[in-house]
Amino acid sequence: MQSNSTKPFSYETYPTNGVVSYFSMEIAIHPSMPTYSGGLGVLAGDTLRSAADQGLPLIAFTLAHRKGYFQQHLTSEGEQMEDVQPWDPSDFCTEEAVRTTVSIENRTVHVRAWRYELVGRAGHVIPIYLLDTDLEENNGWDRGLTDHLYGGDSNYRLQQEIVLGMGGVRMASALGCHVNVYHMNEGHAALLTLALLERQMGGGALGEVTDSDVARVKSRCVFTTHTPVPAGHDRFSNEQTLRILGGERTARLERLGCFKDGMLNMTLLALHFSRYANGVALQHGKVSRAMFPEFEIHSITNGVHAPTWVSEPMQQLLDQHIAGWRRDNLFLRNAIDLPESEIQRAHATAKEALLAEVGTRTGMVLDPHVLTLGFARRVATYKRASLLFTDPEKLVEIARQAGGLQILFAGKAHPQDQPGKALIHSVMETAHKLESDQLHIVYLENYDWVLGAQLTAGVDVWVNTPRRPYEASGTSGMKAALNGVPSLSILDGWWIEGCIEGVTGWAIEDGANDADEAAALYRKLETAVVPLYKGQPEKWAQLMRQTLAFNGSYFNTNRMIKQYTRNAYYPHTMVQHSSVEEPEYVL
Ligand SMILES: *Cc1c(COP(=O)(O)O)cnc(C)c1O
Repeated sequence: MQSNSTKPFSYETYPTNGVVSYFSMEIAIHPSMPTYSGGLGVLAGDTLRSAADQGLPLIAFTLAHRKGYFQQHLTSEGEQMEDVQPWDPSDFCTEEAVRTTVSIENRTVHVRAWRYELVGRAGHVIPIYLLDTDLEENNGWDRGLTDHLYGGDSNYRLQQEIVLGMGGVRMASALGCHVNVYHMNEGHAALLTLALLERQMGGGALGEVTDSDVARVKSRCVFTTHTPVPAGHDRFSNEQTLRILGGERTARLERLGCFKDGMLNMTLLALHFSRYANGVALQHGKVSRAMFPEFEIHSITNGVHAPTWVSEPMQQLLDQHIAGWRRDNLFLRNAIDLPESEIQRAHATAKEALLAEVGTRTGMVLDPHVLTLGFARRVATYKRASLLFTDPEKLVEIARQAGGLQILFAGKAHPQDQPGKALIHSVMETAHKLESDQLHIVYLENYDWVLGAQLTAGVDVWVNTPRRPYEASGTSGMKAALNGVPSLSILDGWWIEGCIEGVTGWAIEDGANDADEAAALYRKLETAVVPLYKGQPEKWAQLMRQTLAFNGSYFNTNRMIKQYTRNAYYPHTMVQHSSVEEPEYVL
């Protein structure tokens, strides 16, 4: 019996009746730690930063990713080159003395944990554990299991997911953590449910699992799904699961209905074992329910961590006028009263800093008085990075009307995504062709946290052109909004909730095909964006403060984490320290 062998968690601020344990394959923890690839990791990091600010009793698990995601370099022809990003966890983290093991292909794989202490604004610490298999006890292959984020093939991925899900549950116990709620951030962590089930069975035969065992595990698990793109849902073949997880576990998962079309589906596994599941925006909840009609799936709209993404000059302005905005982002609604000239000045400073950075990186001299559009995101074909170039002559004409136009692009394509790489190539080729006195188009390499912050704060308009309904939420437009930067976007993801036409930005109307939607994009630029920017600077300043007031005050993780606390973690109590009874576990 377990309760008496559970050591009290060593952080004094933590209640002994349990914490939330947050599992994510990627977390953007620190700008110098290459432990994330894009939106999912940034969201995880922002979630934890807000949880730390609010003093939530929460711990987190991810993998060390010792070789990072990848460093992007672009040749002048637009070819993406990739470099590993080796880093040393001991530069940022403390190694925990305790170890745990997981079973992979019948081998015992040893796992250690590096503790990173994320400190909130009032000093509350959230420990993030980076699991690491690079230990002498392991063979060469296993030592590399926690090296590459989204690297290798699906065998490598399934093995990583065993380390994350099953290793994380076991490590939490080994560390003496008393966990009440397990939060799976995306299906990558779904195997944590299997570790809980095995613990529930007291290490006994999985064949004897009863409904009440499943219900017990389910009572502790919550799950967030993050994409409507089918390829974003991990699936593994029967042959792989038999070989890597073993026959008994595979048979059990099959019997529990976690296979679909002969494949173990990690989203199904997570849904089966969760008492609460959600998508990441209103519409994404609907799309997810249509994909998995047999499950109840709610929605909690994403946000971003305001103090992380508001530029330095805008922070100074907010500190002067809106006391308490960092503690309670709802006060950002009061930005509606900011003096127009001051918000203009703060944005102009951020824009100059961005253009100076572009100059340093590329030698390109851009004009701070010229309308500047930003488009930066992971290069996936559904995001249609080249939609703006559908009719190059039209774009040149708009640039002339506007008295000049500057467009800044950035984004990495996954190393195995050939269509994504071709898209970067074509954007750079077109940029080169269209270059003139009136129109400057720059593709900046190595899109990351720091560049993302500079871009979203410094451009005049944030453009987003996903193909509906594939954008689950999107968060870069929220970063822009917190800097008073309006969006011009397809009505997909968060923008359905955030767009007030002409007040917080503009919608690109739906069309029957790409060409229609490109035409709608040009029309909005010509009839709404350019005339306002060129002719009515005062109105533009009002648009900026409306954007900050209406969207900055809502699309933040300060609000989001409160919604998770009330609806997912502790729906019954409204207080953070749940009194849910701990079942007796045996490890
Ligand atoms: C915010 C951010 C993202 C996610 O942006 P989306 O709008 O969701 O595509 C991806 N990468 C970086 C570096 C970011 O800062």
